[in-house]
Amino acid sequence: MPPPRRATSCWHEPLDGGAAPAYVARTVRYRCARCHTEFTSDDDLPRCPTCGARSGIEPVHAPSLPMRLFGAVLGVAITLALAGGLASRSLG
Ligand SMILES: [Zn+2]
Repeated sequence: MPPPRRATSCWHEPLDGGAAPAYVARTVRYRCARCHTEFTSDDDLPRCPTCGARSGIEPVHAPSLPMRLFGAVLGVAITLALAGGLASRSLG
């Protein structure tokens, strides 16, 4: 009799050597410098789906550090504002 199987639906492979898992593929976000359209492509020579430009296509990286910092600051500010409001209300 085999041992009972656990539900391991969210099992992840260990990150070793930076090998990207298959589900990440190599789809990259690009932005067209001509019409500023953002699109994803796994082509080596991506082409803008809007204006068809092949030149001026720049890869777009995941949220940059400044944007992440901005999001964190915004979250802290909102949290402080909510906490301040609750505190002032409970204190009268
Ligand atoms: Zn374009």
